[in-house]
Amino acid sequence: MFLTITTTGTPERPATDLGYLLHKHPDRAQAFSTSYGTAHVLYPEADTQRCTAALLLEVDAVALVRRGKGKGRGGAPDAALAQYVNDRPYAASSLLAVALSGVFSSAMKGACHARPELPDQARPLRIEIPALPARGGPGLVLRLFEPLGWTVTAEPVALDSEFPEWGDSRYVRLVLESEALTLAEALRHLYVLLPVLDDAKHYWVSADEVDKLLRAGEGWLPGHPEQKLITSRYLSRRWSLTRQAMERLELVRLAEADDSEVEDIDNAVEEETGTEEKPTPLAVRRRDAIIEALHTSGAARVLDLGCGQGQLVQALLKDARFSEIVGVDVSMRALAIASRRLKLDRMGERQASRVKLFQGSLAYTDSRLKGYDAAVLSEVIEHLDLPRLPALEYAVFGAARPRTVLVTTPNVEYNVRWESLPAGHVRHGDHRFEWTREEFRAWAGAVAERHGYDVEFVPVGPDDPEVGPPTQMAVFRMTTEKEAKAA
Ligand code: SAH
Repeated sequence: MFLTITTTGTPERPATDLGYLLHKHPDRAQAFSTSYGTAHVLYPEADTQRCTAALLLEVDAVALVRRGKGKGRGGAPDAALAQYVNDRPYAASSLLAVALSGVFSSAMKGACHARPELPDQARPLRIEIPALPARGGPGLVLRLFEPLGWTVTAEPVALDSEFPEWGDSRYVRLVLESEALTLAEALRHLYVLLPVLDDAKHYWVSADEVDKLLRAGEGWLPGHPEQKLITSRYLSRRWSLTRQAMERLELVRLAEADDSEVEDIDNAVEEETGTEEKPTPLAVRRRDAIIEALHTSGAARVLDLGCGQGQLVQALLKDARFSEIVGVDVSMRALAIASRRLKLDRMGERQASRVKLFQGSLAYTDSRLKGYDAAVLSEVIEHLDLPRLPALEYAVFGAARPRTVLVTTPNVEYNVRWESLPAGHVRHGDHRFEWTREEFRAWAGAVAERHGYDVEFVPVGPDDPEVGPPTQMAVFRMTTEKEAKAA
């Protein structure tokens, strides 16, 4: 198994800095023993202009098989002969990834005591792996590395170069090139994606693999278009771990999306009021409309689902008609901000007994949501991928079943009225979809029908004669008949 990392340089930024970054001196060949064999690090070339480090992993196939057996499940096949005749010693794979992280651990963390400025600097990098097992072929290799900023060459390796008619093997020759990445980023990409492409981990995948994946994936895995495939393959398709990892990645992604942006466009818009008064921001109008609808419904115990930073919870707390207010969000960061906003830690006992915040995902049925008078989903549904919407529908209308449900979402038709919004853009980077009035009505109507609710639509913000209001709100009321049945 063989991998080279090459960088180029100038007298000011010599290529030999690679030696500092890798913590391995370019003048010395070094060997490290790993549990599967020996890893050698050497520099075939090292001068100011160009420096290449090579990692060669000599795998002890017998040790590998023994180890695999001892652990209960190894990557090596079980048939007696195949145990000793397999491709592990020759192919780059998860073993190479493990060797990378062992031999270059400081480099992977981006640490360099001798030259602390180096790890954060992007530099020209070229990584070559002559034989990389790639289940999914060159196409998948491109889909995995290109979104990360690499220029990718993935050439299929023929089964036998003398007999081209035999076709291609499942190996590719991989070359990755970039000028925009740091070495630490590059190593973390390889650490995760080599075993993903190999799709056969050689060691038992345990729960702490989720932590390893999230650590190595920091900064690039959340939001990667192939996040799901990467996660599932990395965790050897163990569904419970994959689901756990996906949830945590979603949290990271949401926390990273700038929460403050959420209301920016809505609030920045100046409405034509014809007076000198400051116009009321749309977010405030939305809260007012929600509170009014809650009053009409007579609700006292209210869920704010996808409460974000807690503005609505705060407004509801000021109103004595609401005896219990529960904010739920999937983002811990949003909840932390909400808690600070509400000064939860300094609140008097009586006030504190009225409010609760907890973390949860609306895509899963949650018994904690049962038994409330009303639920609000203010600007939340559009943050879920459309295929996840039925899960939310069931969790709210099928399982939690509050008597009243308020759902608000942007009316995409109105977007042409936002001067600051380029044509065809959604209002917030994290919106997975935005609906026309008709689309929203169709969805809400079907939901009401399926779960025994009536639904009415209320415009929020100026109701434009042509394109409608900026925000649309659906007010669902459980029909008495069904309510009786459910009771
Ligand atoms: N309701 C607030 C925040 C809207 S932003 C308001 O009107 O201002 C959307 C919020 O939904 C974010 O805080 C996001 O973390 C949350 N969210 C997105 N997907 C979610 C899910 N599956 N479960 C729970 N909350 C989710």
